[in-house]
Amino acid sequence: MKKLSFIAILIFFTSINVFGQRVVIIGLDGFSSEGFKTAKHPNIDKMVADGVLSLTTRPVMPSVTLPNWTSHLTGSGPEEHGVTGNDWTLEKHQLKAIDEDQDGYYPSIFKVLKEQVPGVKTAFYYNWAELINTMNKKYLDEVSFEENDGYVGNYQKALDFIVKYKKDPALIFLYSVRVDHAGHKYKWMSAEYIAAIEEADVAIGKFLDSLKAQNLYKSTHFMLITDHGGTGNGHGGTSMSEMQVPWAITGPKIRRAGLLGNFYNSNKNTSMVIAHIFGVKTLPGSWTGMLPEKIFK
Ligand SMILES: [Zn+2]
Repeated sequence: MKKLSFIAILIFFTSINVFGQRVVIIGLDGFSSEGFKTAKHPNIDKMVADGVLSLTTRPVMPSVTLPNWTSHLTGSGPEEHGVTGNDWTLEKHQLKAIDEDQDGYYPSIFKVLKEQVPGVKTAFYYNWAELINTMNKKYLDEVSFEENDGYVGNYQKALDFIVKYKKDPALIFLYSVRVDHAGHKYKWMSAEYIAAIEEADVAIGKFLDSLKAQNLYKSTHFMLITDHGGTGNGHGGTSMSEMQVPWAITGPKIRRAGLLGNFYNSNKNTSMVIAHIFGVKTLPGSWTGMLPEKIFK
């Protein structure tokens, strides 16, 4: 009898993924801390109130897209992963990485999880074509690119993926380039740029509400991250408009503290946090990010 109830409890816990081994990364390209402070984003605010937020996180340099997303997903800076610009390809790049897998890619969080977390599922959704160039796709179970800056299809695919694998540990990367493209076209902090953030907030709200309706919100860690800010029609420089970005996380293992003042975090810490949530014991020796321990319960 005792043994049976133990098994029943075990099945119950594994069926709802109560251990919180599910991380959804919501990536908004070009989302500056200035933009965060000016735009209205009630859905993001509600989410962040369940966790912690930094508005003093630094991108890696240069404040350019591919170096920074690669840093998020590899726990390292351009000095280590070698991605110094958006033109990086496996075949042609300037700086050799300090580590690489059998296929020539720098070790990503997807590789680390696939090798150390039994049964983990991974997905990568994006709408800026170059973004995936630095990732070895063999560690990704689902990859989806949406044309013409679209993201609605990818948000739906991510939902379907989470529901399909709700009993499994999973890492979902759900990225959109639209905020960045509004900045390039209309200038950072223009009305159009702010509107793009507010539009993203509506999509995020719908996404989170769908997960809440399926009872999958509380067991999930959500990260809201970006690569860089911007000034005028561009970015890549060292102004604080470009070099200060939001970084937020919520979930079962995270403190409920809201905005953490003076939280000097880095984009290269993101994968350290994810690895910690999944209980990964061994990180690649080449990774240089640090675990911001004060975000955890
Ligand atoms: Zn970018």
